[in-house]
Amino acid sequence: MRSHSCNGFGKNQRWLSCGALFLLSLSGCKAGGPDANGSARKQVSFGPRPAGSQAIAQTQDYILSQLSSFGCTVETDAFSSDTPAGRLAMKNIVAKIPGERPGIILLTTHYDTKKLDNFVGADDGGSSTGVMLELARLLCAKHGKYAVWIAFFDGEEAVRKEWKDPDNRYGSRQMAAKMAASGDLKKIKAMILADLVGGKSLRIEREENSTQAIVEVIWGTAKRLGYSDVFVDQATPVEDDHLSFLARGVPSADIIDLVNSAGYWHTPQDTMDKISARNLGIVGHVILESVKELQAR
Ligand SMILES: [Zn+2]
Repeated sequence: MRSHSCNGFGKNQRWLSCGALFLLSLSGCKAGGPDANGSARKQVSFGPRPAGSQAIAQTQDYILSQLSSFGCTVETDAFSSDTPAGRLAMKNIVAKIPGERPGIILLTTHYDTKKLDNFVGADDGGSSTGVMLELARLLCAKHGKYAVWIAFFDGEEAVRKEWKDPDNRYGSRQMAAKMAASGDLKKIKAMILADLVGGKSLRIEREENSTQAIVEVIWGTAKRLGYSDVFVDQATPVEDDHLSFLARGVPSADIIDLVNSAGYWHTPQDTMDKISARNLGIVGHVILESVKELQAR
């Protein structure tokens, strides 16, 4: 993704040592249980994971095995894209939780990492994928009013160094086009994207390209839960996978911190020591409660 205003570094936050602390108030810590931080660590262990690499194939196997272990119904879409590096094989992975009425709440992340030397993407790719896996673990066993689909995109990152359309968002464009063709696109009530959500000094500004009504649900939920220090009221525009759905008229919002991650973003320093399990838990909690809010509408 591309930020239009990267500045500065944040204060350090305390590292809590209790897994992802998902559902801080509800579930507590479960020793040995899967958690977003552990998922990010696992992804990082595969090394750099650009589209078409051996390591991304390992990542796909890992995501699929996790979703399977959670009892999720999963669909994969293997496709290929013409890129500046030639034609690359890519794969979107979608966990589909059925609903009782027509309507889809779509939660999304990208799991590829930008092709840069020694870039392992603990925050950029790993963090939000860990959060979405944890949400799949919590949600796959439940049915709500509307279906919840949790999508893991390949090919978000530009193959070239620069972010210039159409060399980016390959996976989300593919899924949006596929959903348009099948007729599912118009059923989407809300698309929520997470990206770079694990930083120790996490501070998420309202993303200005996003649909205001969805932003209000997320930031209102965060405020209600007492996370206004993380979900702040400043705003900044970022280009990311949500644009693929916004372009087709789908109400969409991006949860991303490109301000406090700026010091390590797209550098070999995007490593696990930058990640806060507590903050992953906060983002997961906010998305989970936002889904409940959307289900109640
Ligand atoms: Zn990136």
